[in-house]
Order: sequence, then structure tokens, then C-alpha cells
Amino acid sequence: MDQSLLDSLRVVALPTKTNFRGIKIREVALFKGEYGWAEFSPFLEYEDAECAPWLACAIEAATKPRPKLFRSTINVNGTIPAIDDEKEISKIVDLYPGVKTFKIKVGDNTELDLARIKAVRSLRPDSAIRVDVNGAWTVDQAVSFLKLAGEIEYIEQPCASVEELRELKKRIDVKIAGDEVIRKAVDPFALDLNGVVDILMLKVQPLGGIKRIHNLIDHHKLPVVVSSALESAIGIDYGLVLAGSINHLDYGCGLATGSLLAKDVANISIVSGQMEISSPTPIFDGLDVSIERFEWWKNRIMRTAELL
Ligand SMILES: [Mg+2]
Repeated sequence: MDQSLLDSLRVVALPTKTNFRGIKIREVALFKGEYGWAEFSPFLEYEDAECAPWLACAIEAATKPRPKLFRSTINVNGTIPAIDDEKEISKIVDLYPGVKTFKIKVGDNTELDLARIKAVRSLRPDSAIRVDVNGAWTVDQAVSFLKLAGEIEYIEQPCASVEELRELKKRIDVKIAGDEVIRKAVDPFALDLNGVVDILMLKVQPLGGIKRIHNLIDHHKLPVVVSSALESAIGIDYGLVLAGSINHLDYGCGLATGSLLAKDVANISIVSGQMEISSPTPIFDGLDVSIERFEWWKNRIMRTAELL
């Protein structure tokens, strides 16, 4: 990768408002190229090989012109982490003004999962509910859960493997969205998703950027939802650009996770359940990491760049 990108590197530590997949501080690397700021933010535990598409995406964002857009505002869903305290759930729901869909993390404990869904439904009775299982269940567990859960817009990654998803799909009417099955595949183009999932869950960084995702959509020919990975406003904006560049976008997108951060490098507000593409300029005020963490990220980027 071009040295000028590395020269612009900043690494920030963003505190979260609530525990999200065990994270209370989200570190992200940002660099700037001819076409603006870009984000590289694979989670800390990822091996370099898994970081490669994230870096390809960031380089694309910094160095390539934005694609043609079909819309500049995107309908978003609220994301509810696996939290159980009703007051905390209520606070999180309030972070998403006008949002018509909530994605609720489930999978660890059926009783608590159902109580979480019930709490969100009672706070926003008119909203659609989708659940994300992160591949935690067997086929039977997914079938039993759906019998108890009421109306569900779709279930995201209920089981881990392609074989289980295929089996489950024969047994339920609720739509299935594939996330990890696509994102963690060695080659997402080699998957046969026919009879496996109804919806592609697409995240711009882990899938290697906008151009590659357009190719993936053309290849699989399924409806899509754009989502995110607890990114800063820079990464979220690039996800909004992806969502804006997709001709047929039928579902609210999981791009409102910035609401879960206590601090961010920019603010993209949610207005009437929508977010706007804005190419924000980051403000680094007091958010930069220590020299040691900066060097860790810089080395990670240089190692990962060798794999591209
Ligand atoms: Mg997911």
C-alpha cells in the first residue's frame, strides 16, 4: 500500500456505552487518501489473514471514487446487544429515534432472549423484530425458539454451517439471513446459497469493499441487508455509501451501531429512522491511542498489506 496512506494514519480508542460482544473500548485505525478518510478496524483478536479484506476495503475507500448512488439517506435498524436489564434496554432503544426495525442479539439463554424481545416490543410496539444468533444454535433449537418468539422479520445466522441452514430452511417459514456463513467463508463466491439463506447480510469491511460486494450481489442474486461491525463514523459512512449504491434495498440496514459508542470521531445522526451519507471529517480530540497501541496497529497494517 502507498506510504502516503500510512503517513496519515491515526488510531483512536472509542469507549462504548454498553458491553457489546465483550468490548468496552473500540480501537479503530483511520487513514486518508485522495478520496477521503477510510477505516481499518478488524477486531483485535483477528489473525492477519482475516484482516486482509478489511484493509482492501479501507484502501478502496481512500483511493477510489465513490460509486453511483441510488439514494443518499438509508433506513436503519436499531441494534440491541445481549443485555437483560429493562432500564438499560429502554435506554438503548431510545438511542434510535424513528427506527422501525430492531435487531436483537439472542442465543445464550432462551428465557432471557425472549424477555429481551418482549421488552423491545413493549417499548416500540409498531416495530419489526429481527434476531441475530451468530450461529449459536442447532437446527432443533432454532425451530423451538421460533415457535415461542412471535412474529420475526428474519433470523440472522441461526446455525453455523451451510448444511444446518439448509436443513433448517426446510423446517421454518421465517426468512434466514446469512452473515458469518458468507463473511467467514474462504471464498464467498464459491458458496451455493440456494435453499440455504433468503437474505445476504453484507458488511463492507469484512467483505473487501464496495466493488467486491457488488460482484457478490450479482453472483448470488438474493435480497441484501447492509450491516456494520461497531465501526467509527468513518467506517459507518462507507457502509452508508455501500447501501446507497445498491439498486434494490428492501430492508433497513444495521448501520446505526454508532449509537452504542460513547464517543466517536464524528456524529451521523439518526433522523426519523434514517441516516445520511455525509463524508464526515474526523475530529480526534483526545481520542488517540498510546504510542504502543499506535505502533501495534501500524505493524498490523503493514503485515496485512503484505497479504493483499
Ligand atoms: Mg450478525
